[in-house]
Amino acid sequence: MSNSGVLAQNMWMQKRSLPQIGRWAADVARAALIAVAVAVAPAAPAAPVLAAATPGKLPAWSSGYFYIHHISTGRGNATYFVMPDGTTMLIDAGEADPEFAKMVAPLKAFPPLPDGSHSAGYWIADYIRQFAPAGRPVKLDYALITHFHTDHMGTVTADKPMSRTGAYRLAGITEVADLIPIGTLVDRAAPTYDYPVDLRECARPGGLPGSNGMSLSNYLGFADYRLKHGQAVVGLKPGALDQIRLGKAGAFPTFHIRNVASSGVIWTGARDETQYYIPKDAVSDCRFDENPFSNVLTMAYGRFKYYSGGDIPGVPAYDQPWWRDVETPVSAVVGPVDVMLLDHHGNRDTVNENILRNLAPRVLVQENWLSPQPGEDVVNRMASKGLYPGPRDVFSIGMAVETRAAIGPIMDSIYKSYNGHVVIRVAPDGESYEVYVLNDANTRREIVKRFGPYRSK
Ligand SMILES: [Zn+2]
Repeated sequence: MSNSGVLAQNMWMQKRSLPQIGRWAADVARAALIAVAVAVAPAAPAAPVLAAATPGKLPAWSSGYFYIHHISTGRGNATYFVMPDGTTMLIDAGEADPEFAKMVAPLKAFPPLPDGSHSAGYWIADYIRQFAPAGRPVKLDYALITHFHTDHMGTVTADKPMSRTGAYRLAGITEVADLIPIGTLVDRAAPTYDYPVDLRECARPGGLPGSNGMSLSNYLGFADYRLKHGQAVVGLKPGALDQIRLGKAGAFPTFHIRNVASSGVIWTGARDETQYYIPKDAVSDCRFDENPFSNVLTMAYGRFKYYSGGDIPGVPAYDQPWWRDVETPVSAVVGPVDVMLLDHHGNRDTVNENILRNLAPRVLVQENWLSPQPGEDVVNRMASKGLYPGPRDVFSIGMAVETRAAIGPIMDSIYKSYNGHVVIRVAPDGESYEVYVLNDANTRREIVKRFGPYRSK
């Protein structure tokens, strides 16, 4: 697109983001027209038509749309996907350890949302029930854990309730699983759990410090229970195309999920070939950092592309080895995307210059839960037109006032929203997409702001 085209599109989008009642009425009327058009298309179910035109409510999913919900619980990552044929997936179900937040004081953890009356796993399941495809049993076809940290899979302590199965305790992903059935569970190390070291050994008492050992042990008990009862548990196969796939792939041939990296093994960009990027002998005991081993994938729908990389780092500390920069080789094979989920919650060791240059995201989403997120350098890089040209909009699910006070006005130049669930609604065939921010302080989850449509690359 030409510069003037970008400018015109940008000005148009800014106009649309103003809370004008007349504009809103026009949008509602347009949504109703679209809903009617969708309703007469052969692949579309009739049920969501009325809901799609309800003011203040996120248009209900209907066939052909691709929704990406970044769920705000204040306690870690959770992203819920409804794919064009209604196939569903959850990436991560975090519930950070309150003891960890105390250990890192004076850093501040966000308050639990919508409130502390329930655990994060409960609220994630409640959110999914609200936005799941209508007229079908509520289920998750896939649930994927990027890596074995509590802000991605849940913190287990001795006071957490037992599952009705009696086999594991409920927190994060295990709690979601007891509330909503999961078809296939995907993680980075199933079924052997022996890379880069024997994770079952690490899960034994004395293997990992604090709640990490108990949380990993509980997760492995959950995975074992599923395997024993014929419920799928698989490791993400790096380099594979469509290991995670639509139930009705033929109806949406331009929708694909590419596994980019898992456990330090990265796709080369050719066919499904991979290479070990993190040396096989890089770690030798349980006290290694899980982050560089995170699962990374992209989701493409026509021209639209989304990136999700767990907590992979990109900026090694001065005393860390070169392979702590996982973002650079990952970004080289991913290429340009429309929407990027920030790695590692936007912490200072991520979102390096290479991943920004190579992905050149128009929209960036931050799933954060702690006051040092984002790092100041991360904000400077995201705002830099020297790394890639054109406008960019950042949406975070939360923000500490101390963070904004420390980093200053540069944040306002790129952040369009500092709190709320962030929903990407991709139009049929992936030609364009919109961003909705939903209220995360109540369970109505009404629309607070709306941006776009953005044209896909
Ligand atoms: Zn994390």
